[in-house]
Amino acid sequence: MYIRSLFQSSHLQWAWRAAIWKHVWCRPQEVHRWMHSGGRNYRAVIFDMGGVLIPSPGKVAAEWEVQNHIPSGTILKALIMGGEKGPWMKFMRGETTTEEFLQEFGRLCSEMAETSVPVDSFWSLLTCEQVAKPFPVMTEAITWIRAKGLRTALLTNNFYLPNGKSFLPLDRKQFDVVVESCLEGICKPDPRIYELCLEQLGVQPSESIFLDDLGPNLKAAASLGLHTVKVNDPETAVKELETLLGCASRMVIPNTRPVRKTMEIPKDSLEKYLKGILGTQATGPLELFQFEHGQSNPTYYIRLADHQLVLRKKPPGKLLPSAHAVEREFRIMKALANVGVPVPTVLDLCEDSSIIGTPFYLMEYCPGLIYKNPSLPGLEPSQRQAIYTAMNSVLCRIHSVDFKAAGLEDYGKQGDYISRQVHTWIKQYRACETSTNPAMERLIEWLPLHIPKEQKTTVVHGDFRLDNLIFHREKTEVLAVLDWELSTLGDPLADVAYSCLAHYLPSDFPMLRGLRGCDLTQLGIPTAEEYFKMYCLHMGIPPAENWNFYMAFSFFRVTAILQGVYKRSLTGQASSATAEQTGKLTEYMSNLAWDFAVKEGFQVFKKMSSTKPLARSYHTRASPQSLLNATGSRSYVSFPESPPAHTSKGVLVISPEGLSQPVRELHRRLRRFMEQHVYPAEEELRRHQASADRWAPSPLMEDLKEKAKAEGLWNLFLPLETDPEKKYGAGLTNVEYAHLCQLMGTSLYAPEIFNCSAPDTGNMELLVRYGTEAQKARWLTPLLEGKTRSCFAMTEPQVASSDATNIESSIREENGLYVINGHKWWISGILDPRCQLCVFMGKTDPHAPRHQQQSVLLVPMDTPGIKIIRPLTVYGLEDAPGGHGEVLFEHVRVPKENMVLGPGRGFEIAQGRLGPGRIHHCMRLIGCSERALALMKARVKSRVAFGKPLVEQGTILADIAQSRAEIEQARLLVLKAAHHMDVAGNKAAALDIAMIKMVAPSMAHRVIDRAIQAFGAAGLSSDYPLAQFFAGARALRFADGPDEVHRAAVAKMELKLRP
Ligand SMILES: Cc1cc2nc3c(=O)[nH]c(=O)nc-3n(C[C@H](O)[C@H](O)[C@H](O)COP(=O)(O)OP(=O)(O)OC[C@H]3O[C@@H](n4cnc5c(N)ncnc54)[C@H](O)[C@@H]3O)c2cc1C
Repeated sequence: MYIRSLFQSSHLQWAWRAAIWKHVWCRPQEVHRWMHSGGRNYRAVIFDMGGVLIPSPGKVAAEWEVQNHIPSGTILKALIMGGEKGPWMKFMRGETTTEEFLQEFGRLCSEMAETSVPVDSFWSLLTCEQVAKPFPVMTEAITWIRAKGLRTALLTNNFYLPNGKSFLPLDRKQFDVVVESCLEGICKPDPRIYELCLEQLGVQPSESIFLDDLGPNLKAAASLGLHTVKVNDPETAVKELETLLGCASRMVIPNTRPVRKTMEIPKDSLEKYLKGILGTQATGPLELFQFEHGQSNPTYYIRLADHQLVLRKKPPGKLLPSAHAVEREFRIMKALANVGVPVPTVLDLCEDSSIIGTPFYLMEYCPGLIYKNPSLPGLEPSQRQAIYTAMNSVLCRIHSVDFKAAGLEDYGKQGDYISRQVHTWIKQYRACETSTNPAMERLIEWLPLHIPKEQKTTVVHGDFRLDNLIFHREKTEVLAVLDWELSTLGDPLADVAYSCLAHYLPSDFPMLRGLRGCDLTQLGIPTAEEYFKMYCLHMGIPPAENWNFYMAFSFFRVTAILQGVYKRSLTGQASSATAEQTGKLTEYMSNLAWDFAVKEGFQVFKKMSSTKPLARSYHTRASPQSLLNATGSRSYVSFPESPPAHTSKGVLVISPEGLSQPVRELHRRLRRFMEQHVYPAEEELRRHQASADRWAPSPLMEDLKEKAKAEGLWNLFLPLETDPEKKYGAGLTNVEYAHLCQLMGTSLYAPEIFNCSAPDTGNMELLVRYGTEAQKARWLTPLLEGKTRSCFAMTEPQVASSDATNIESSIREENGLYVINGHKWWISGILDPRCQLCVFMGKTDPHAPRHQQQSVLLVPMDTPGIKIIRPLTVYGLEDAPGGHGEVLFEHVRVPKENMVLGPGRGFEIAQGRLGPGRIHHCMRLIGCSERALALMKARVKSRVAFGKPLVEQGTILADIAQSRAEIEQARLLVLKAAHHMDVAGNKAAALDIAMIKMVAPSMAHRVIDRAIQAFGAAGLSSDYPLAQFFAGARALRFADGPDEVHRAAVAKMELKLRP
């Protein structure tokens, strides 16, 4: 019955309030408050980190120096050495990597100390969890400052860790604003960083207090007009803060705020009532605060004389009869207290509405800690383990209550709880449905068919989560379980599953912080499976086989609740951004629910860890020597973590996580750009390609190119060995680029957006390598800027062009010019109106030795005599606007200076041109195959045929497995080829290049074909990119030379190298 009432709007709000209100609404930024002191109005407090919130590097260094027999003060002196330009400041501006810093810093320290100083060990100590621990007194201070309605900021000079993250061992959620020097590239005491912080806080300097332990930083703040507090010792600093803000922190109750106008209750009659309950000796002023949460049933903190109480009441106004049943909460807590379940001690239930306007109940205030962040920042792994164990055992205690003996026999219906819940939530979901959510539709069909056959009946909490528990301040003991509004009699496994929701939500989930992506083992937090097992062990029951069902149900229920919030946000006062965000979350949650349903239905998944999906976060390094050792065998070393290296030259990195920090960052930005700009634009770009304007460049493409250029995601392709001074490109190694190129390969449009597309990349590389300065100025510069495009003309219709020596087009010298005559076809990009350069391959001397007959000429596209006969199509696709043209060159006259390198050197150039550029297609094909497989997986999970998702069909599984294995094989070979090119040069890598060219297109072709098959007919349509992918991969079995030619090359080399 109460479930129905839950859907009454205010009740719904409450149901989700724990998720929303505790984390969002209570944020002080929406509460504009001022603290007065000495005539000043303070609105914000800004904290430095090291030396204020956590121990200062100086103090850590002093102890370390003693332990390591290093002359005292060495570290500190080295830290300040060089001032602005010193290694420390550069490091904190994010200008150097940890490795570079430690090298320079170690050298400085060793010089000063005249002995070798192991700075790495100091570094590890400074950044380790045990040392970089927040001072509790400061953490408390931040809590009460926020409770008072002031904003808080962290303004820190910090640095990047080798894992690419910035050093910030604090709970970010404690701060409204976080400004980090290594991200901003500016350090304190530079005034700009203070100004940035103030701007983000939206306060004036005079409205802020700034705490730091360093004089120059304080001086700079003071000169801007901020009030400053020098922190020598955190306790004293907090006292000073208390004085400045005119309040005593110890008296402030966390998570409370002054009572809202609309929530006021008559103090006089309340005081009279309290005296009646507590005795007349309870005199003194009555202090009343409101808890930030408790929107459904407003909750108040009361201090009267020595008593600290909590009052929870029904909201004002007209309510459904069964809604906001404070009586039920009172009843269950009273009953559970008697049987040893930790709950707040309830004192009295007052059903007389005349006292404060509505019924309410009173309980004792229970001081303790509430952990709002499930990753428990600042604690040690053993403490986290203990907290989750305590949480688990208190749940067991609730479920072990003999409800009949406790007088709760009629507290809810007995048996068939899940079935009733499923139907109730389906009904509620339907009542607030706004559009069709495919995952919810599938769940609505699936859940009733999979109701567990055996269900126990116990007391269930209904909203059992870590942040509904009050813990003892010193011990890992649960003092009280809060929020019993959803409690009833039901299936206890629903509570267990519900308490694992956070395990599957991302840590930055807007409404409910999660643990996904966290390394639970390292944190000491049990995985969801371990948590479930722990529960079963405590309860003495066999491991629950069908717990994926319970997870699916829990996420379904939360989605239904969230859908209610969403519907109200559409009609209510919530901003459209909030409504949109809630809508997306609803979809996210429902997809999670369906993922569990699939796992439940699909036995094989039961053996897999759900919290730890296969993560390829390892990387492998191989040194140049190890690659080419005498035996021909290769030794690789695998590391489980990211390497500290900042250059990947000579390193075979097999996953992006293993890249150096700057390249990892580039990879992250590229991925973000793909997600934010490229994938969403695909539809429109595809439409343009099918429109009458298709032979003109799409304005959207030009726009995206500008964006990519502005973000520095431009010309990433030019390899370091071609461009060692990074004059033209990003200076990446082939291996580094391979990881980025894979990402670009996931969209057909991406390469052009980042100015990394063929045939321009090969032509640009040709110009960088072999072009004269004049040729570079005329052709290379506009190509690098993305203003023009180019083509490469080799293939001819009348000869078998896979053998380039067959080429017949002639280049003859005549009156100081070269004159071209020939017939070419499949010339990609030549139809593009931006195409201004044709890199032409023809014969200058048909009588010269076979490989010296050909030459390469740079032909301006506006030269008379170039006639495009027609665009060719690939499976009917024109690939506009570049297209693939059939072209006649009739008496085309080109100046002699347009010859590249010289007559007869065409073959040499073609080899060079096709060096790195040769494997770009292969790199992209890996990404393209990954996308095809991802699309296929999503499709087969959501499409149901013959009563079960397609993914449960054996042949589909075999196809998925085959595709994954083939992608990985090809990926490794691509990376190996790239690595070989990096360490031994393009020539030495010829075998690897030929092998991957032989392998990648056919691999992609097969993977995409399987994806198309799994999609059904839709896979062939242009609704999905698969058909285009397929055509592209198929064409690449010719475009880069036919498979057979590569196979022949591989075989020849094999026989030559290993006869
Ligand atoms: C989409 C697309 C874009 C292209 N873009 C360009 C471009 O921009 N510029 C350009 O110049 N060309 C381009 N090409 C042409 C491409 O390079 C040629 O198609 C390729 O080199 C093969 O030449 P061919 O078509 O003349 O085939 P042929 O040489 O006639 O070969 C036909 C078949 O013979 C077989 N064969 C050939 N050699 C051997 C061997 N050694 N052993 C066994 N079997 C063999 C293979 O099966 C081969 O497919 C493109 C092609 C496509 C499909």
